[in-house]
Amino acid sequence: MLTIRLHDTRSGELRELIPREDRHVGIYACGPTVYGRIHVGNARPFVVFSLLKRFLQHEGLDVTLVINITDVNDKIYDAARPLDIPSADLADEMAAHYKADTAALGLGRPDAEPLASETIEPIVALIAALIERGHAYAVEGDVYFRVRSDPEYGTLSRRAVDEMNQGEGVEGADRKEDPLDFALWKAHKEGEDSVWYAPWGRGRPGWHIECSAMAEELLGVGFEIHGGGNDLVFPHHENEAAQTRSARGAELAQIWMHNGMLQFGEEKMAKSVGNVALLHEVLDDVGRNALVMLFVGAHYRQPMAFDDMRLMEALARVARVRDAARGLVDGPSPPEMRPLRDAFFAALAEDFNTPAALGALFEWINERHQRRDEPVGRADLVEMLSVLGLENLAEHGGEAGAEELEMLDERQAARNAGNYAEADRIRNELRARGWEVRDSSAGPQLVRIEQ
Ligand SMILES: [Zn+2]
Repeated sequence: MLTIRLHDTRSGELRELIPREDRHVGIYACGPTVYGRIHVGNARPFVVFSLLKRFLQHEGLDVTLVINITDVNDKIYDAARPLDIPSADLADEMAAHYKADTAALGLGRPDAEPLASETIEPIVALIAALIERGHAYAVEGDVYFRVRSDPEYGTLSRRAVDEMNQGEGVEGADRKEDPLDFALWKAHKEGEDSVWYAPWGRGRPGWHIECSAMAEELLGVGFEIHGGGNDLVFPHHENEAAQTRSARGAELAQIWMHNGMLQFGEEKMAKSVGNVALLHEVLDDVGRNALVMLFVGAHYRQPMAFDDMRLMEALARVARVRDAARGLVDGPSPPEMRPLRDAFFAALAEDFNTPAALGALFEWINERHQRRDEPVGRADLVEMLSVLGLENLAEHGGEAGAEELEMLDERQAARNAGNYAEADRIRNELRARGWEVRDSSAGPQLVRIEQ
């Protein structure tokens, strides 16, 4: 197994991944708040951590990937109200869309997808532990975390405590001991249609405590990797870390991994900016292969540009891989090409550098083209593509049927007779059946259209 190092936001350094138990790694990544369809930017952590899991499995580790679903939240109440439907119905509907949209990425599902609404008991127990230890206090049915009671507060986002703003606005300002404190539990308010019972009153949990409780329930305390978008470092992850540290006397996670945002030009893709491309629409437009290719072409920590030009580039890369895979034979790849395969995995072991890995993969493809006239085994290429979720590009494509091959001949005959309109008609008919006609030096060929 390779030594795997990942960038840890808390230390600001690359840290070696050292499993608590022999060869088992727990990953918790913060998932969506389900109040609308997700956009491509929301899909980035899903892709990054699903692929990281594949890589760790490739290295012989046993991985449990947890991506939660936040189904109790102010945003859901706000979105359900004008629609005049129960907030729980909206959350159910959007959670189902989220699962279908991400399933279409073709990367499988996380091992667990806990819902906040199904974790209330552990949430209440965790809040009770914080009150008991003097790290939280109840006031008028709300419960707040006492930020200054945690001497380590601020060490994840590496900010000075006095410069922080929880972003809770005026809500609860008159009840907090200190403006820095944040809500663990919110007393029931007029217009909120879901409510749970706790020793300090009826209401609902705050967002940050939901994740501390769900992560501990499924992975314990001190698990290996906590992930999410870098917009969550403060306050969400800072607060998750503070809650667990204060209640349990131990750190929630060893390594905090954060992915960069998607950019449209100079702007971050966000609902609040109004520049979103919905995941299911992009998948309909370009297919999952191109979108996964686009994601792996950028380092997870960097902002990722998303526009038509980048999508076209990704489509071209998909076609290049598929072209290279065509004509490979079953079995091991030539040993002289092995260093390129090794460079691919070495790049992933050093902070999951997928663009560097992709570079090695394309060098492998160049090398394969140098060997046009000899049989080249597909094993290395399949192994590399599998970790990127693109193994289907190297599968034996379905062979065209007799009918399609006959149409190909008819098209060629039409062209030879100068009947280009008829040739184009047949080409379009083939395209509708999922076959692209490619004219090569060896004559026209049918190539499966990639979606
Ligand atoms: Zn979270």
